[in-house]
Amino acid sequence: MTENSVVAQFKDLLHQAIINADVVKIFDYLLTIAVEEDASDIHIEPFENYCRIRTRVDGILSELVQYPKNLHESVISKFKIESGQMRPDEKRLPQDARVSTVTQTNKEIDLRASTLPTVWGEKLVMRIVDKSKKMQGLGDLGIEWINKEIIYQKINDPNGIILNTWPTGSGKTSTLYAALSRINKVEFNITTFEDPVENKVQWLNQSQIRSDINFTFASGLRSALRQDPDIIMVWEIRDHETLEMAMEAAMTGHLVFSTVHTNSAAETITRILNLGAQPYMMAGTINMVMAQRLARKICPQCKSQKSVKWTSLHNYAVAAFKGMNMTSLQKELERRNISIQRWNQFVNEGLVSYWTGHTHEDHQGDGDDHTCSLCKWSGYKGRLGVFEVMDYSDEIKNMLIQGKTAYEIENVALEQWMINLERDAILKVVADELTLEEVYRVVKHKVL
Ligand SMILES: [Zn+2]
Repeated sequence: MTENSVVAQFKDLLHQAIINADVVKIFDYLLTIAVEEDASDIHIEPFENYCRIRTRVDGILSELVQYPKNLHESVISKFKIESGQMRPDEKRLPQDARVSTVTQTNKEIDLRASTLPTVWGEKLVMRIVDKSKKMQGLGDLGIEWINKEIIYQKINDPNGIILNTWPTGSGKTSTLYAALSRINKVEFNITTFEDPVENKVQWLNQSQIRSDINFTFASGLRSALRQDPDIIMVWEIRDHETLEMAMEAAMTGHLVFSTVHTNSAAETITRILNLGAQPYMMAGTINMVMAQRLARKICPQCKSQKSVKWTSLHNYAVAAFKGMNMTSLQKELERRNISIQRWNQFVNEGLVSYWTGHTHEDHQGDGDDHTCSLCKWSGYKGRLGVFEVMDYSDEIKNMLIQGKTAYEIENVALEQWMINLERDAILKVVADELTLEEVYRVVKHKVL
């Protein structure tokens, strides 16, 4: 049975369970469909006259099914009882729970669930962690040349701080685990402080933060330093105390991984300074800052090429490389296997891939085009990471100490070698992996 027919079969069963008002089966089938569709989240939401279930696949929400309003209360209270961690009689306050379960297709999953009171009743959202899914390696995420070189070099440094920035849903969790797994060797003591611990990894000392009992990122870091550490991962730096501890750990010969809530590698400079770090301390401790986004990959089955010359998106895309050192650009193109001819086609003629949603193969012999069976008219299939890495080279460290702004520092890096989010995404357009529309859905245009 193909994956699609499994989903179709469980969708039929789900409809039947709704008609029969069988709440237990509704959950069983719903979770199975979501996992088989590779969904990251499930939304169960009440409105005035009916309720709706949506799933998020490849970062985009779509409706799975609707069900009658009179079923909603038993759906929510059934979940609350099953979770064992939510109070069924409490409907006025948000609640959350973590649940481990198994789908009808025998896949072990963890759910992070939360309820929210809305004007039409309680909404339930479940984040799915599929434990049967193989953790991705650093090489599988879509990190390309110069960025790859810097990352591979910096994660092997004996000390310093490596930062990843994190808008929600950017895939930074996968990247951090992939980086740690790569350096997870018997000769290193690696301790992590996470909130929550999303994946359990062999031979890592993973610790769950409990801020309700004062076990914070900062106090975790302090204890780690008494545990003979080599490498420490602290999930997030959001206050001065944690930043200070991380810098102290880096100064005393440890490698520290962490994340900061900003949108780009350059913004991180401003954020860290605002958290009270001295520029010389930053220069002395930070090795590298990376940022990432997840973009939907163009469907390989129904893509075609066209010229988008003179469109604003094409103008943006070409402008993103303006002022960049030609030798660095040529080297990057060469290593990504993009020929000069292909690059010129893109710049001069605006030639890009786009999705059509239908295939020209006429399987049914009726002379018509047919909806693409792979992406079902969505045009996209799977996701690809888009990355930027700011290497804290000696030049950048000097600029920091001289008090240059994040803007000035970023511009120098962009002139010389830096492949920022926008440039990385555009190079993936030229390599026929992404569409320009998707690029500017996930990254901002930057003018040098
Ligand atoms: Zn398609």
